[in-house]
Amino acid sequence: MSKVVIIGGGLAGLTSALALNRQEFEVVIIEKKQYPFHRVCGEYISNEVLPFLKSLDLNIQELEPSKLSRLAVSSVAGKIVYAPLDLGGFGISRYTFDHYLYQKAVQSGVVFIFDKATDVLFDENEFEIKLANHSSINTSILIGAYGKRANLDQKLNRSFFYNRSPYMGVKYHIKTDFPNDLIQLNNFEGGYCGVCKIEDDKYSLCYLTETKNLKKHGNIPEMEEQILLKNVHLKHMFKNSEFLFNKPETINEITFERKSLVDNHILFCGDAAGMITPLCGNGMAMAIHSGKLIAETITDHLKTDSELLNREILEKTYHHQWEKQFASRLKTGRFIQKLFGNNTVSDMAVSLLKTFPSLTQRMVKKTHGKPF
Ligand SMILES: Cc1cc2nc3c(=O)[nH]c(=O)nc-3n(C[C@H](O)[C@H](O)[C@H](O)COP(=O)(O)OP(=O)(O)OC[C@H]3O[C@@H](n4cnc5c(N)ncnc54)[C@H](O)[C@@H]3O)c2cc1C
Repeated sequence: MSKVVIIGGGLAGLTSALALNRQEFEVVIIEKKQYPFHRVCGEYISNEVLPFLKSLDLNIQELEPSKLSRLAVSSVAGKIVYAPLDLGGFGISRYTFDHYLYQKAVQSGVVFIFDKATDVLFDENEFEIKLANHSSINTSILIGAYGKRANLDQKLNRSFFYNRSPYMGVKYHIKTDFPNDLIQLNNFEGGYCGVCKIEDDKYSLCYLTETKNLKKHGNIPEMEEQILLKNVHLKHMFKNSEFLFNKPETINEITFERKSLVDNHILFCGDAAGMITPLCGNGMAMAIHSGKLIAETITDHLKTDSELLNREILEKTYHHQWEKQFASRLKTGRFIQKLFGNNTVSDMAVSLLKTFPSLTQRMVKKTHGKPF
């Protein structure tokens, strides 16, 4: 039994742990929060993940997610285009989904340490992970699945950490009157807001905005009133819904910059390896897919090298597999991000999509993967 330690118990960490555990690895996850908890996320997941989840004996239908089969995109001025989602997806809160995966991981023998990883040292082919409670844990294989940006990135001197991160995210759960099968992306100046049904007759309403919108208006309600509600679809949603949280979930410092996949010999996956713009609605599927990829790469490597760890080959193989699977999707995401969140450009983009409906489907295809 080889030991693998994973820092971060989000989708990438939990799914890679479940997959490695099936291959008889001893798996330890270090997670700084206690489940269940809310996360800023639009909570739409592409159906491409279903075969892999099934292979892990996970039955997502137990959680009664919504079924999403149509996409709508509205421009800042309120022009709207509808398109079928060929592959489709489902809506489930991260509160429920991550908690379910956590419970399954515990049942299958994954060990959880609830603490914050504060530093990682690498010496004589072994990692020492320091924890906030001043203890430490050692391993020869370390996966970094700790999300888009963390204190550790600074400690590890990852270059993206020092670049600007101009976006923030805000999430609510609401009760509202809205189609069950639709995910709707509504543009506003400097951002966009997604709405879709999740479990228990609730809806997720989540937006990404340039941080300067908040700076300009001082607080979230004022920013929403002055900026988001200029889009008629959002105005209708905000004025005709019951908001279920006392205050929204928020995150700052969101960046879509390229990141290193392997740094200080740590293998990164999920958002820690690269984050696709939320507009593409594929971050969760990519996190899960990279969990699968990293687990398979480690397993194959140790099998073929008869338990001998050749770190250089392992790192190169993972790098190659990851680039092949995700690099072009991230690039398309960065391009599409530029088309939205601006009055004139979003209006032109929506008009174009209305005139050429097949373009919308092509755009979705480019940003999503195939079932895996
Ligand atoms: C506004 C917004 C909307 C989005 N909407 C969608 C959507 O609708 N559909 C979609 O597919 N994707 C969406 N995404 C993207 C999606 O949320 C992410 O891609 C996905 O959550 C990445 O999963 P992950 O496991 O890599 O990271 P996370 O889910 O962020 O998990 C990282 C984990 O690491 C833990 N952690 C961090 N630092 C430490 C540390 N030092 N020690 C221990 N633990 C640590 C955190 O507590 C966390 O649990 C959205 C993103 C944003 C910002």
